[in-house]
Amino acid sequence: MAARVVVVGGGYGGATLAKRLDDVADVVLVEPKDAFVHASAALRAVVDPEWQARVFYPYDGLLKRGRVVQDWARRVSPHRVQISPFESIDADVVVLATGTAYPFPAKFLENEADVASARLARMRDDLARCDRVLLVGGGPVGLELAGELTAAFRHLRVTVVDIADDVLTSGDFLPELRATIREQLEERGVEFVTGAPLAFLPPVDVGTYAPFTVETTTRVPLEAQMWFRCYGSRAQTGYLDEELAAARRPDGRLRVTEHLTVVGQDRVFAIGDITDVPESKRASAAIAHADVVARNVMDVLEGRRPSARYHAAAELIVLPLGPDGGASQLELDGGRREVVGPAETSRIKGRDLFSTDVAELFGRA
Ligand SMILES: Cc1cc2nc3c(=O)[nH]c(=O)nc-3n(C[C@H](O)[C@H](O)[C@H](O)COP(=O)(O)OP(=O)(O)OC[C@H]3O[C@@H](n4cnc5c(N)ncnc54)[C@H](O)[C@@H]3O)c2cc1C
Repeated sequence: MAARVVVVGGGYGGATLAKRLDDVADVVLVEPKDAFVHASAALRAVVDPEWQARVFYPYDGLLKRGRVVQDWARRVSPHRVQISPFESIDADVVVLATGTAYPFPAKFLENEADVASARLARMRDDLARCDRVLLVGGGPVGLELAGELTAAFRHLRVTVVDIADDVLTSGDFLPELRATIREQLEERGVEFVTGAPLAFLPPVDVGTYAPFTVETTTRVPLEAQMWFRCYGSRAQTGYLDEELAAARRPDGRLRVTEHLTVVGQDRVFAIGDITDVPESKRASAAIAHADVVARNVMDVLEGRRPSARYHAAAELIVLPLGPDGGASQLELDGGRREVVGPAETSRIKGRDLFSTDVAELFGRA
Protein backbone atom coordinates (compact mmCIF):
# COMPACT_ATOMS: atom_id res chain seq x y z
CA MET A 1 0.00 0.00 0.00
CA ALA A 2 1.34 3.45 -0.90
CA ALA A 3 2.16 5.78 1.98
CA ARG A 4 -0.46 8.44 2.61
CA VAL A 5 0.32 12.12 2.23
CA VAL A 6 -2.37 14.50 3.43
CA VAL A 7 -2.11 17.98 1.95
CA VAL A 8 -4.12 20.55 3.91
CA GLY A 9 -5.24 23.41 1.66
CA GLY A 10 -5.59 23.35 -2.11
CA GLY A 11 -4.31 26.79 -3.12
CA TYR A 12 -1.32 27.41 -5.41
CA GLY A 13 1.11 25.50 -3.18
CA GLY A 14 -1.14 22.65 -2.03
CA ALA A 15 -2.68 21.92 -5.43
CA THR A 16 0.73 21.90 -7.13
CA LEU A 17 2.19 19.57 -4.51
CA ALA A 18 -0.78 17.18 -4.55
CA LYS A 19 -0.40 16.86 -8.31
CA ARG A 20 3.38 16.31 -8.10
CA LEU A 21 2.92 13.44 -5.61
CA ASP A 22 -0.16 11.88 -7.21
CA ASP A 23 1.86 9.12 -8.93
CA VAL A 24 4.00 8.15 -5.95
CA ALA A 25 1.77 8.33 -2.87
CA ASP A 26 -1.82 7.97 -1.68
CA VAL A 27 -2.58 11.69 -1.81
CA VAL A 28 -5.51 13.18 0.07
CA LEU A 29 -6.12 16.89 -0.45
CA VAL A 30 -8.31 18.51 2.22
CA GLU A 31 -9.89 21.73 0.98
CA PRO A 32 -13.26 23.30 1.86
CA LYS A 33 -13.78 25.04 -1.49
CA ASP A 34 -15.31 23.19 -4.44
CA ALA A 35 -13.01 25.03 -6.84
CA PHE A 36 -9.49 26.46 -6.72
CA VAL A 37 -9.48 30.26 -6.58
CA HIS A 38 -6.99 31.88 -8.95
CA ALA A 39 -6.52 35.08 -6.91
CA SER A 40 -4.12 36.59 -9.45
CA ALA A 41 -7.04 36.90 -11.90
CA ALA A 42 -9.77 37.82 -9.42
CA LEU A 43 -9.49 41.59 -9.80
CA ARG A 44 -10.02 41.40 -13.58
CA ALA A 45 -13.31 39.58 -12.91
CA VAL A 46 -14.43 42.64 -10.93
CA VAL A 47 -14.73 44.54 -14.20
CA ASP A 48 -15.04 41.83 -16.85
CA PRO A 49 -17.56 38.96 -16.55
CA GLU A 50 -15.66 36.96 -19.17
CA TRP A 51 -12.85 36.53 -16.66
CA GLN A 52 -15.04 34.92 -14.03
CA ALA A 53 -14.58 31.46 -15.56
CA ARG A 54 -10.83 31.90 -15.29
CA VAL A 55 -10.95 32.56 -11.54
CA PHE A 56 -12.56 29.24 -10.43
CA TYR A 57 -11.20 25.79 -11.35
CA PRO A 58 -13.05 22.71 -10.03
CA TYR A 59 -10.77 20.23 -8.29
CA ASP A 60 -12.05 17.23 -10.25
CA GLY A 61 -9.44 17.70 -12.99
CA LEU A 62 -6.47 17.92 -10.60
CA LEU A 63 -5.67 14.37 -9.42
CA LYS A 64 -5.80 11.05 -11.28
CA ARG A 65 -5.27 8.68 -8.34
CA GLY A 66 -5.60 10.80 -5.23
CA ARG A 67 -8.78 12.22 -3.78
CA VAL A 68 -10.02 15.60 -2.64
CA VAL A 69 -11.96 15.76 0.62
CA GLN A 70 -14.10 18.88 0.48
CA ASP A 71 -14.03 20.06 4.06
CA TRP A 72 -12.04 22.05 6.58
CA ALA A 73 -9.17 20.51 8.49
CA ARG A 74 -10.39 21.37 11.98
CA ARG A 75 -7.45 20.05 13.97
CA VAL A 76 -4.13 18.86 12.62
CA SER A 77 -1.63 16.69 14.52
CA PRO A 78 1.64 15.30 13.19
CA HIS A 79 -0.04 12.04 12.02
CA ARG A 80 -3.72 12.91 11.83
CA VAL A 81 -5.97 15.45 10.19
CA GLN A 82 -9.33 15.81 11.84
CA ILE A 83 -12.21 16.85 9.61
CA SER A 84 -15.06 16.65 12.13
CA PRO A 85 -15.58 15.24 15.63
CA PHE A 86 -16.30 11.87 13.95
CA GLU A 87 -13.96 11.84 10.97
CA SER A 88 -10.20 12.01 10.71
CA ILE A 89 -7.57 10.94 8.20
CA ASP A 90 -4.37 9.20 9.29
CA ALA A 91 -1.24 10.36 7.50
CA ASP A 92 2.35 9.24 7.02
CA VAL A 93 3.26 12.77 6.01
CA VAL A 94 1.26 16.00 6.44
CA VAL A 95 1.80 19.12 4.36
CA LEU A 96 0.24 22.36 5.58
CA ALA A 97 -0.68 24.77 2.77
CA THR A 98 -3.59 26.82 4.10
CA GLY A 99 -2.40 30.21 2.87
CA THR A 100 -3.85 33.57 3.77
CA ALA A 101 -7.36 34.98 3.89
CA TYR A 102 -7.95 38.31 2.13
CA PRO A 103 -11.09 40.46 1.81
CA PHE A 104 -13.46 40.18 -1.19
CA PRO A 105 -12.99 40.47 -4.15
CA ALA A 106 -9.30 39.39 -4.07
CA LYS A 107 -10.25 36.16 -2.27
CA PHE A 108 -13.60 34.73 -1.19
CA LEU A 109 -15.16 33.54 2.07
CA GLU A 110 -17.67 31.45 0.13
CA ASN A 111 -16.73 27.79 -0.38
CA GLU A 112 -18.97 27.29 -3.44
CA ALA A 113 -17.76 28.81 -6.71
CA ASP A 114 -21.39 29.41 -7.78
CA VAL A 115 -22.07 31.50 -4.68
CA ALA A 116 -18.81 33.45 -5.01
CA SER A 117 -19.55 34.02 -8.72
CA ALA A 118 -23.04 35.27 -7.92
CA ARG A 119 -21.56 37.77 -5.44
CA LEU A 120 -19.12 38.97 -8.10
CA ALA A 121 -21.97 39.37 -10.60
CA ARG A 122 -24.07 41.37 -8.09
CA MET A 123 -21.07 43.55 -7.39
CA ARG A 124 -20.53 44.23 -11.12
CA ASP A 125 -24.22 45.22 -11.51
CA ASP A 126 -23.84 47.63 -8.60
CA LEU A 127 -20.52 48.95 -9.93
CA ALA A 128 -22.22 49.89 -13.20
CA ARG A 129 -24.31 52.42 -11.21
CA CYS A 130 -21.27 54.03 -9.54
CA ASP A 131 -19.22 57.01 -10.56
CA ARG A 132 -17.01 57.11 -7.44
CA VAL A 133 -15.22 54.23 -5.76
CA LEU A 134 -13.02 54.34 -2.65
CA LEU A 135 -10.15 51.90 -2.19
CA VAL A 136 -8.79 51.67 1.36
CA GLY A 137 -5.16 50.58 1.11
CA GLY A 138 -2.48 51.57 -1.40
CA GLY A 139 -0.59 48.29 -1.51
CA PRO A 140 -0.33 45.97 -4.53
CA VAL A 141 -3.97 44.84 -4.32
CA GLY A 142 -5.43 48.37 -3.99
CA LEU A 143 -3.32 49.68 -6.86
CA GLU A 144 -4.01 46.69 -9.12
CA LEU A 145 -7.73 47.12 -8.44
CA ALA A 146 -7.49 50.85 -9.19
CA GLY A 147 -5.82 49.86 -12.47
CA GLU A 148 -8.56 47.38 -13.41
CA LEU A 149 -11.36 49.82 -12.54
CA THR A 150 -9.90 52.72 -14.49
CA ALA A 151 -8.84 50.61 -17.49
CA ALA A 152 -12.36 49.23 -17.86
CA PHE A 153 -14.40 52.33 -16.89
CA ARG A 154 -12.75 55.56 -17.97
CA HIS A 155 -15.52 57.66 -16.35
CA LEU A 156 -15.02 56.14 -12.90
CA ARG A 157 -13.41 58.37 -10.27
CA VAL A 158 -11.29 56.26 -7.99
CA THR A 159 -9.72 57.42 -4.72
CA VAL A 160 -6.99 55.44 -2.98
CA VAL A 161 -6.52 56.26 0.70
CA ASP A 162 -3.55 55.04 2.73
CA ILE A 163 -2.27 55.68 6.22
CA ALA A 164 1.35 55.84 4.94
CA ASP A 165 2.83 58.86 3.16
CA ASP A 166 3.11 56.99 -0.14
CA VAL A 167 1.80 53.89 -1.88
CA LEU A 168 3.56 50.50 -1.90
CA THR A 169 5.31 51.11 1.40
CA SER A 170 5.06 47.52 2.63
CA GLY A 171 7.84 46.09 0.47
CA ASP A 172 11.38 46.86 -0.59
CA PHE A 173 10.33 48.74 -3.72
CA LEU A 174 12.39 51.18 -5.75
CA PRO A 175 11.16 54.80 -5.85
CA GLU A 176 10.84 54.55 -9.69
CA LEU A 177 8.25 51.81 -9.26
CA ARG A 178 6.10 53.93 -6.94
CA ALA A 179 6.51 56.95 -9.19
CA THR A 180 5.50 55.25 -12.43
CA ILE A 181 2.52 53.46 -10.85
CA ARG A 182 1.26 56.71 -9.33
CA GLU A 183 1.82 58.60 -12.56
CA GLN A 184 -0.07 56.09 -14.68
CA LEU A 185 -3.00 56.06 -12.27
CA GLU A 186 -3.04 59.85 -11.88
CA GLU A 187 -3.20 60.15 -15.67
CA ARG A 188 -6.41 58.14 -15.43
CA GLY A 189 -7.77 60.52 -12.78
CA VAL A 190 -7.07 58.43 -9.69
CA GLU A 191 -6.75 60.57 -6.57
CA PHE A 192 -4.36 59.59 -3.77
CA VAL A 193 -5.07 60.64 -0.20
CA THR A 194 -2.07 59.53 1.86
CA GLY A 195 -0.55 60.16 5.24
CA ALA A 196 -3.59 59.60 7.45
CA PRO A 197 -6.01 56.74 8.12
CA LEU A 198 -9.76 56.93 7.78
CA ALA A 199 -11.31 58.15 11.02
CA PHE A 200 -13.83 55.31 10.60
CA LEU A 201 -14.57 52.74 7.90
CA PRO A 202 -17.58 53.25 5.60
CA PRO A 203 -20.65 51.94 7.46
CA VAL A 204 -21.72 49.78 4.49
CA ASP A 205 -20.68 46.41 3.08
CA VAL A 206 -17.79 46.28 0.60
CA GLY A 207 -18.61 45.89 -3.09
CA THR A 208 -22.23 47.03 -2.90
CA TYR A 209 -23.88 50.23 -4.17
CA ALA A 210 -24.39 52.31 -1.03
CA PRO A 211 -23.46 56.04 -1.15
CA PHE A 212 -21.50 57.19 1.93
CA THR A 213 -19.20 59.90 3.21
CA VAL A 214 -16.19 59.23 5.44
CA GLU A 215 -13.23 61.33 6.46
CA THR A 216 -9.60 60.83 7.32
CA THR A 217 -8.29 61.64 10.78
CA THR A 218 -6.96 64.85 9.20
CA ARG A 219 -10.55 65.71 8.21
CA VAL A 220 -10.29 65.14 4.46
CA PRO A 221 -13.86 64.21 3.43
CA LEU A 222 -14.26 61.32 0.97
CA GLU A 223 -17.47 60.47 -0.84
CA ALA A 224 -18.18 57.36 -2.89
CA GLN A 225 -20.89 54.86 -3.72
CA MET A 226 -18.81 51.72 -3.30
CA TRP A 227 -15.67 50.81 -1.41
CA PHE A 228 -13.23 47.93 -1.11
CA ARG A 229 -10.90 46.97 1.74
CA CYS A 230 -7.49 46.40 0.17
CA TYR A 231 -5.47 45.38 3.22
CA GLY A 232 -5.57 42.71 5.88
CA SER A 233 -3.92 39.51 4.71
CA ARG A 234 -4.06 36.88 7.49
CA ALA A 235 -2.26 33.52 7.78
CA GLN A 236 -4.74 30.68 8.37
CA THR A 237 -3.17 28.36 10.93
CA GLY A 238 -5.74 28.21 13.74
CA TYR A 239 -6.24 24.45 13.37
CA LEU A 240 -2.89 23.25 14.74
CA ASP A 241 -2.77 21.00 17.79
CA GLU A 242 -0.57 21.97 20.73
CA GLU A 243 2.50 20.19 19.43
CA LEU A 244 2.40 21.86 16.01
CA ALA A 245 1.33 25.22 17.43
CA ALA A 246 4.74 25.41 19.13
CA ALA A 247 6.11 26.45 15.71
CA ARG A 248 3.54 29.24 15.20
CA ARG A 249 4.74 32.83 15.42
CA PRO A 250 2.57 35.61 16.89
CA ASP A 251 1.57 36.66 13.34
CA GLY A 252 0.21 33.16 12.62
CA ARG A 253 3.04 32.12 10.29
CA LEU A 254 4.91 28.86 10.89
CA ARG A 255 8.62 28.57 11.49
CA VAL A 256 10.10 26.22 8.91
CA THR A 257 13.56 24.78 8.24
CA GLU A 258 15.50 25.12 5.00
CA HIS A 259 13.86 21.81 3.95
CA LEU A 260 10.45 23.37 4.66
CA THR A 261 9.69 20.97 7.50
CA VAL A 262 7.84 22.65 10.35
CA VAL A 263 10.41 23.37 13.07
CA GLY A 264 10.53 20.44 15.51
CA GLN A 265 8.90 17.97 13.05
CA ASP A 266 10.33 15.53 10.53
CA ARG A 267 7.12 14.45 8.77
CA VAL A 268 5.17 17.70 8.74
CA PHE A 269 5.97 20.28 6.07
CA ALA A 270 4.57 23.76 5.42
CA ILE A 271 4.50 25.68 2.14
CA GLY A 272 3.26 28.96 0.73
CA ASP A 273 2.00 32.07 2.50
CA ILE A 274 1.85 30.44 5.95
CA THR A 275 5.61 29.95 6.16
CA ASP A 276 8.06 32.36 7.76
CA VAL A 277 10.42 32.18 4.77
CA PRO A 278 11.81 35.74 4.49
CA GLU A 279 10.43 36.64 1.06
CA SER A 280 7.31 38.39 -0.13
CA LYS A 281 4.30 36.08 -0.16
CA ARG A 282 3.54 35.09 -3.71
CA ALA A 283 1.92 32.26 -5.64
CA SER A 284 5.17 31.74 -7.53
CA ALA A 285 6.98 31.17 -4.20
CA ALA A 286 4.26 28.75 -3.00
CA ILE A 287 4.72 26.75 -6.23
CA ALA A 288 8.51 26.73 -5.78
CA HIS A 289 8.02 25.52 -2.18
CA ALA A 290 5.82 22.70 -3.53
CA ASP A 291 8.60 21.55 -5.87
CA VAL A 292 11.11 21.38 -2.99
CA VAL A 293 8.68 19.62 -0.66
CA ALA A 294 7.71 17.07 -3.35
CA ARG A 295 11.35 15.94 -3.44
CA ASN A 296 11.65 15.94 0.34
CA VAL A 297 8.45 13.96 0.83
CA MET A 298 9.77 11.32 -1.58
CA ASP A 299 13.03 11.22 0.42
CA VAL A 300 11.13 10.72 3.66
CA LEU A 301 8.88 8.04 2.17
CA GLU A 302 11.96 6.17 0.96
CA GLY A 303 13.60 6.33 4.39
CA ARG A 304 16.06 9.16 3.66
CA ARG A 305 16.50 12.56 5.22
CA PRO A 306 15.07 15.47 3.20
CA SER A 307 17.67 16.53 0.62
CA ALA A 308 16.15 19.54 -1.17
CA ARG A 309 16.75 22.97 0.31
CA TYR A 310 14.69 26.08 -0.35
CA HIS A 311 16.41 29.41 -0.87
CA ALA A 312 14.24 32.50 -0.48
CA ALA A 313 13.17 33.78 -3.90
CA ALA A 314 14.47 37.00 -5.39
CA GLU A 315 12.20 39.94 -4.61
CA LEU A 316 9.98 40.97 -7.46
CA ILE A 317 6.59 42.43 -8.10
CA VAL A 318 4.57 42.41 -11.29
CA LEU A 319 1.84 45.02 -10.98
CA PRO A 320 -0.52 45.32 -13.94
CA LEU A 321 -2.90 48.25 -14.18
CA GLY A 322 -5.44 46.58 -16.45
CA PRO A 323 -4.41 44.50 -19.48
CA ASP A 324 -2.04 47.13 -20.93
CA GLY A 325 -0.74 49.26 -18.05
CA GLY A 326 1.42 48.84 -14.99
CA ALA A 327 5.03 48.37 -13.98
CA SER A 328 7.18 45.63 -12.46
CA GLN A 329 10.27 45.44 -10.32
CA LEU A 330 12.44 42.54 -11.38
CA GLU A 331 15.71 41.23 -9.97
CA LEU A 332 18.31 40.42 -12.58
CA ASP A 333 21.32 38.11 -12.31
CA GLY A 334 23.80 39.54 -9.84
CA GLY A 335 21.00 41.00 -7.71
CA ARG A 336 20.59 44.21 -9.74
CA ARG A 337 17.01 45.45 -9.58
CA GLU A 338 15.21 46.97 -12.51
CA VAL A 339 11.83 48.59 -13.05
CA VAL A 340 10.11 47.79 -16.35
CA GLY A 341 7.03 49.48 -17.74
CA PRO A 342 3.60 48.67 -19.15
CA ALA A 343 4.64 46.63 -22.21
CA GLU A 344 6.78 44.16 -20.27
CA THR A 345 4.26 44.02 -17.38
CA SER A 346 1.47 43.30 -19.80
CA ARG A 347 3.56 40.54 -21.41
CA ILE A 348 4.43 38.90 -18.04
CA LYS A 349 1.01 39.11 -16.37
CA GLY A 350 -1.40 41.82 -17.56
CA ARG A 351 -2.84 40.00 -20.58
CA ASP A 352 -3.08 36.41 -19.38
CA LEU A 353 -2.91 36.80 -15.57
CA PHE A 354 -1.17 33.36 -15.46
CA SER A 355 -4.52 31.73 -16.27
CA THR A 356 -3.01 29.45 -18.95
CA ASP A 357 -0.68 27.84 -16.36
CA VAL A 358 -3.50 27.41 -13.87
CA ALA A 359 -5.85 25.92 -16.48
CA GLU A 360 -3.13 23.38 -17.31
CA LEU A 361 -2.67 22.42 -13.63
CA PHE A 362 -6.40 21.72 -13.35
CA GLY A 363 -6.67 19.81 -16.63
CA ARG A 364 -8.67 22.58 -18.30
CA ALA A 365 -6.12 23.71 -20.91
C1 LIG B 1 -5.42 40.10 -5.80
C2 LIG B 1 -4.19 39.25 -5.66
C3 LIG B 1 -3.32 39.13 -6.73
C4 LIG B 1 -2.17 38.35 -6.62
N1 LIG B 1 -1.35 38.25 -7.69
C5 LIG B 1 -0.24 37.49 -7.60
C6 LIG B 1 0.63 37.36 -8.71
O1 LIG B 1 0.42 37.94 -9.77
N2 LIG B 1 1.72 36.58 -8.59
C7 LIG B 1 1.99 35.91 -7.44
O2 LIG B 1 3.02 35.20 -7.40
N3 LIG B 1 1.19 36.02 -6.35
C8 LIG B 1 0.08 36.79 -6.41
N4 LIG B 1 -0.74 36.93 -5.31
C9 LIG B 1 -0.40 36.24 -4.05
C10 LIG B 1 -0.92 34.82 -4.06
O3 LIG B 1 -2.30 34.79 -4.30
C11 LIG B 1 -0.60 34.11 -2.74
O4 LIG B 1 0.75 34.26 -2.43
C12 LIG B 1 -0.98 32.64 -2.88
O5 LIG B 1 -2.39 32.51 -2.93
C13 LIG B 1 -0.41 31.79 -1.76
O6 LIG B 1 -0.64 30.46 -2.06
P1 LIG B 1 -0.87 29.38 -0.93
O7 LIG B 1 -0.90 28.04 -1.61
O8 LIG B 1 0.08 29.58 0.18
O9 LIG B 1 -2.30 29.68 -0.30
P2 LIG B 1 -3.70 30.03 -0.94
O10 LIG B 1 -3.63 30.17 -2.41
O11 LIG B 1 -4.23 31.16 -0.12
O12 LIG B 1 -4.57 28.72 -0.66
C14 LIG B 1 -4.84 28.26 0.63
C15 LIG B 1 -5.99 27.26 0.55
O13 LIG B 1 -6.14 26.64 1.82
C16 LIG B 1 -7.51 26.48 2.10
N5 LIG B 1 -7.67 26.38 3.56
C17 LIG B 1 -7.58 27.37 4.49
N6 LIG B 1 -7.80 26.87 5.72
C18 LIG B 1 -8.01 25.54 5.58
C19 LIG B 1 -8.28 24.47 6.49
N7 LIG B 1 -8.38 24.67 7.81
N8 LIG B 1 -8.45 23.22 5.98
C20 LIG B 1 -8.32 23.00 4.65
N9 LIG B 1 -8.07 23.98 3.74
C21 LIG B 1 -7.93 25.22 4.21
C22 LIG B 1 -8.15 27.71 1.48
O14 LIG B 1 -9.53 27.48 1.19
C23 LIG B 1 -7.32 27.90 0.20
O15 LIG B 1 -7.88 27.24 -0.90
C24 LIG B 1 -1.90 37.69 -5.40
C25 LIG B 1 -2.78 37.80 -4.32
C26 LIG B 1 -3.91 38.57 -4.44
C27 LIG B 1 -4.85 38.67 -3.24
